[in-house]
Amino acid sequence: MDASIHLHILASGSKGNAAVVEGPSGSVLVDCGISRRELHRRADAAEVDLSRVEAILVTHEHTDHTSGLPVVCKHFDGPVYATFGTAHARPTLAALPFTTVARDVTLSLGGMRVQAFPLSHDVADPICFRFERWEQNHLVDALAWATDTGILTKQALEALRGCRILGIEANHDREMLATGPYPYFLQKRVGGNHGHLSNAQAAEALPQLLTSETQTVVAMHISQKNNLPELAHDALCEAVGTQAEVLVASQTEPLTIW
Ligand SMILES: [Zn+2]
Ligand SMILES: [Zn+2]
Repeated sequence: MDASIHLHILASGSKGNAAVVEGPSGSVLVDCGISRRELHRRADAAEVDLSRVEAILVTHEHTDHTSGLPVVCKHFDGPVYATFGTAHARPTLAALPFTTVARDVTLSLGGMRVQAFPLSHDVADPICFRFERWEQNHLVDALAWATDTGILTKQALEALRGCRILGIEANHDREMLATGPYPYFLQKRVGGNHGHLSNAQAAEALPQLLTSETQTVVAMHISQKNNLPELAHDALCEAVGTQAEVLVASQTEPLTIW
């Protein structure tokens, strides 16, 4: 049996987010801010078998993470996990069959241990997840990511440390945000403690997150208005050096990391 966990980032950015984490005995869909049709189109392109999805995890209520859920949930029998705050944040989500969980819940899904951790974002109760594979009391694989957070909480730093695959938000370049098209209040929101991580913040956090286990670092939730993939890539490369490869997740194309 393949002991490792695989990550398919089907969409990443403010126009929609969805990722499938493939464990040894099943998969998990994290967020669905794209339509069901687009979810299936991208899953097919990435050769992801959506019939293996045994649970849906929802990080927070923003539409770029939830817009596809009402239709996807109509065709899905498994549990849909979210915090109480997320589940009750919006009328459009009220009818979904949520199982509410604590922000530090541990779940067992797809042969993986799934650990939730809290983020700092302008929503009710945002979380993200670390996925681990254990064999005979040994940790054999781990991956985690954090996006939609203005700062990395202590729990997020702990969860992101020592992963083979590490995803980190590199939402904006500070200079581009300050001189870009956003009005001042939105610049303050995006760059604030409950907004999104900048390239510089991601780069600054990386030294304490990388270990000898880390093989791949992925820049995620890149703004199409306030950042460029090259800027995010360069900023993270500088922090990572030769220790790991650096990839950039896309708004439009799936990215698979085996
Ligand atoms: Zn988002
Ligand atoms: Zn958000």
